Amino acid sequence: LISNASDAVDKLRFEEITNHNLLKSDKENSVTIRMDKENSVLFLEDNGIGMSKEDLMNNLGTIASSGTKKFLEKLSEQDKKDSNLIGQFGVGFYSAFMVAKKIIVESRSAHGDSAYKWTSSGDGSYTIENSSKETRGTLIEIHLKDEEKEFIEDWRIRGIVKKYSDYVTYPIFLLE
Ligand code: ADP
Ligand code: MG
Repeated sequence: LISNASDAVDKLRFEEITNHNLLKSDKENSVTIRMDKENSVLFLEDNGIGMSKEDLMNNLGTIASSGTKKFLEKLSEQDKKDSNLIGQFGVGFYSAFMVAKKIIVESRSAHGDSAYKWTSSGDGSYTIENSSKETRGTLIEIHLKDEEKEFIEDWRIRGIVKKYSDYVTYPIFLLE
């Protein structure tokens, strides 16, 4: 999910060069992790390119569909080299359900669509409704399974981020 957030920020960085009408953000391009220990909910937020309603349906609701791969195909050879895009298989997001009983994704596309909220319990179905999210980008709420609550601990999160997200070029903030 951190790789996805990093990709989203990277896409924004690219599109910004040619499109000056993208939604602005008052924060630096980054990924922020917060946790609600009492309810075992992890929050992962980015101020990247965001997702439209169609993006939420096509990219999150469908396994093996990678919006990042499609994005990369549209870039020039030089831009491909300059990009830091990570995703391409389209299976990363759904694997969060290994530890989550419910995931809520709220997103506002930088292209100026309304914001939408995608909810699923990982059983192959999902719901989409309007969201009140005002800022650009994506906020993911991961409701941990009872037996996976160790992922709410900061030492566990720090360890994962250090080990697997060391190469991410944008700042990753952990708020306690
Ligand atoms: P991959 O990263 O290999 O493309 P994933 O299953 O991890 O596959 O994600 C599927 C797609 O969902 C991504 O390609 C991207 O289009 C979209 N997506 C996932 N997370 C985000 C996010 N935080 N912001 C914008 N788009 C996202
Ligand atoms: Mg991914």
